Amino acid sequence: MAVSFEVSEKGYYGKFGGAYIPEMLYPNVEELRQSYLQIMADPDFQADFKDLLKNYVGRPTPLYFAKRLSESVGAKVYLKREDLNHTGAHKVNNTIGQILLAKRLGKQKIIAETGAGQHGVATATVCALMGMECIVYMGEIDMERQKPNVERMRILGAEVVPATSGSKTLKDATNEAMRHWIQHPTDTHYIIGSVVGPHPYPDMVAKFQSVISEEIRKQLLEKEGRENPDYVIACVGGGSNAAGAFYHFMEEPEVQLVATEAGGLGVDSGKTAATTSIGTEGVLHGSKTILMQTEDGQIVEPYSISAGLDYPGIGPLHAHLFDSKRGTFLSITDDEAMEAGVKLSKLEGIIPAVESAHAFAALEKMEFKADDVVVVNLSGRGDKDLATYIKYGKY
Ligand SMILES: *Cc1c(COP(=O)(O)O)cnc(C)c1O
Repeated sequence: MAVSFEVSEKGYYGKFGGAYIPEMLYPNVEELRQSYLQIMADPDFQADFKDLLKNYVGRPTPLYFAKRLSESVGAKVYLKREDLNHTGAHKVNNTIGQILLAKRLGKQKIIAETGAGQHGVATATVCALMGMECIVYMGEIDMERQKPNVERMRILGAEVVPATSGSKTLKDATNEAMRHWIQHPTDTHYIIGSVVGPHPYPDMVAKFQSVISEEIRKQLLEKEGRENPDYVIACVGGGSNAAGAFYHFMEEPEVQLVATEAGGLGVDSGKTAATTSIGTEGVLHGSKTILMQTEDGQIVEPYSISAGLDYPGIGPLHAHLFDSKRGTFLSITDDEAMEAGVKLSKLEGIIPAVESAHAFAALEKMEFKADDVVVVNLSGRGDKDLATYIKYGKY
């Protein structure tokens, strides 16, 4: 076993990861780094986490054999139904884990940043559940574009603070959240929503999301008599649902890991979020990874039809999966994703989130054998994307 996919002591996956943070943030991140593994390994913590996942989130989510889709694709296709979680996506697995951890650390307040609002809603949800104060930073432009999620967060009791600097989008909201955390290090925990940010966030989030592949193994053993599928396919924005779906298969070389990125209007169109296609190595949000940047290191604004994949980088674990060739990365255009979303709706009666539709589009691009077992991670439901489906129109 030459290549490892376990994070190193200093937070590296191969050459990616680490903690590239301003000096002022060091005590906060260091407190987390020193305690997260110990807290997560504590049986009481695990019991609380498992209890909420079961009774509040509704886990385990089904592993559903998609008969009509399988016939169409020519392989045995299973769907991991993260869309059936409370709040409609996988993100809540992580926010439940992090808020329990924040309580163990004695924190009373939660901050988060959000782009499309999905992570903000998942954070506001668990703050309401725990009776904790919640501030969500969101770019002013994103607040305008994602009004229903802003109101959802407010109904749940969160304060949504507009980020008014720079391009008034996600990276500006991130800067505001970081600034807040520096000013309130003792009473506040910062919940990051994907496998990004400085160590230990990518590892911590991957471990909370790893419940997805833990369940897939058990469920496949029941249904197919073996724990390992031939393929696991998941979409990648920052990479948390993919990290969770891949986690327990990363050291199983016979399982092919397929990550789909948002190609937007095409990787050469200038309107894309396909990080591994056009990205280069650099530092983004506190870790060394692959990101979309100009030659002098300015971040290139990403574009995707799906707000959740509209991110200019990928987490360091995914950069390592790509760099080591352990993972196969495919770029899916807006149109390919929408077509796959409509196809799943017609064949299985499941309207997927547009993010998740990017994973289904991979089925159209790959060659399978009839007895291949393929698991697609259905990261979220499409209710939030109705306007996008209507605008696309071809159904
Ligand atoms: C946020 C989101 C994503 C992308 O985030 P990852 O961290 O890459 O998983 C994918 N699917 C859905 C439904 C989402 O809400």
